[in-house]
Amino acid sequence: MSKTTPSLLVQGYEVVIGFETHTQLTTQSKIFSRASTAFGAEPNTQASAVDFALPGALPVMNKGAVQRAIEFGLAVNAHIAETSIFARKNYFYPDLPKGYQISQFEIPVVQGGVVEFFLDGEKKSVRLVRAHLEEDAGKSLHEDFIGMSGIDLNRAGTPLLEIVTEPDMRSTLEAVAYARELHKIVTWIGICDGNMQEGSFRCDANVSVRKPGAELGTRREIKNLNSFKFMQQAMDYEVRWQIEQIEDGHEIQQATVLFDPDTGETRSMRSKEDAADYRYFPDPDLPPLVIGRDWVEKTRSEMSELPRVMAARFIADYGLSEYDAGQLTQSNATAAYFEAVASASGQAKLASNWVMGELSRRLNTEEKSIEASAVSTAQLAALIGRIADGTISNNAARQVFDALWTGEGQDVDALIDAKGLKQMSDTGELETIIDGVLAANARNVEEVRAGNSKAFNALVGQAMKATKGKANPAQVNELLKKKLA
Ligand code: ADP
Ligand code: MG
Repeated sequence: MSKTTPSLLVQGYEVVIGFETHTQLTTQSKIFSRASTAFGAEPNTQASAVDFALPGALPVMNKGAVQRAIEFGLAVNAHIAETSIFARKNYFYPDLPKGYQISQFEIPVVQGGVVEFFLDGEKKSVRLVRAHLEEDAGKSLHEDFIGMSGIDLNRAGTPLLEIVTEPDMRSTLEAVAYARELHKIVTWIGICDGNMQEGSFRCDANVSVRKPGAELGTRREIKNLNSFKFMQQAMDYEVRWQIEQIEDGHEIQQATVLFDPDTGETRSMRSKEDAADYRYFPDPDLPPLVIGRDWVEKTRSEMSELPRVMAARFIADYGLSEYDAGQLTQSNATAAYFEAVASASGQAKLASNWVMGELSRRLNTEEKSIEASAVSTAQLAALIGRIADGTISNNAARQVFDALWTGEGQDVDALIDAKGLKQMSDTGELETIIDGVLAANARNVEEVRAGNSKAFNALVGQAMKATKGKANPAQVNELLKKKLA
């Protein structure tokens, strides 16, 4: 568990947070039916007899959902249960026509596990309790303009993996960092598309406060946080509100609350129900979920390198800083792009600088993903090669990058030639130019000899200008020093 540092206390209180995250799995069809899971279709066009809960319609387990649960379990070093059980969670709500949600209760498919990440250079570990498979509910659509509500069951039966942590987090910042890391893991291994606006990754934050060393305080659960920004705002508000209540002599009541982004406040939705209220019992329609060890081992052998493992390798193999390695492993695609450029150019540090610098700036302004980069990895590698061998300056390279990006040309060397960007490497030619500069700036020369360093810089500037910026500044410096010595 993360240790408590006094500086983390908020007005003398320790913050305690545990997360429950609903991730929609990337299967084509639903968890217990063949209906499509695609987002955004006309209401009720993607719901089958099972999703409508027609009498006699029976659920059939989707193997792809189980596959993804196994992948997640392996990614977080959890135990994959050989046998897990589906249970009925009974409650009444219009978007749940069966009157119960099929979930897992006592024996979930993924047990334990840990999510690790860095927060301000400090390593954090958040322990997972479990991750279980369940079905999503439908949606109520409130058509205010006709004063009626409708039910859309397209989302009903979408496979979810609910990931539950221990109450290990000790600040709202740590909790958001955990959510970001979890988001990175599930999108990296491809079990969830991570689209928070569409509800593919929804977090419930359980928040309590206590005096250091005291028993855990009573928690309130903020439901359905679907952006990292709202998550931070909601938890910060909740912490302040709870402390205020306690300081005013009130007790915190366990409750489920909603965050209102317009007011920046959380408000109580209902008092929290207990597991007993749901009358859980094993679903007689579904046999126990049995996962053979061979399935787990086959999955393990086929999984790609995880972001944290890859970041560690970047640090060891390429000598990158922890920060750079962390940035480059934000997504699978970014990491793959970087590695392609680094290995083709043999210049890892330059590759890292260009991918995180010029390239990501361009991608950001044009709101493009790295997969859609107009500059290929081979082109960037060639460009970096020309910086490394001294053919062009960094500035000139930026011009070439621009030309590649806009499609003005495809070949790095051809563009360097066409734009006349080659640095002057012929020392003889450079010396002639410098001699001319020295002759034309006699006063500056005198001042340099009198020990004026500004005058020296002025001479460098003049020489660079005379070469139309094509000289290597380091070389100009060196030659000038030699001649003025
Ligand atoms: P329930 O069975 O009511 O859902 P759980 O024990 O499963 O409750 O906990 C649900 C979530 O709440 C977990 O993520 C857990 O870490 C978190 N949690 C439990 N107690 C606290 C607490 N006192 N403060 C903050 N979070 C808590
Ligand atoms: Mg629970």
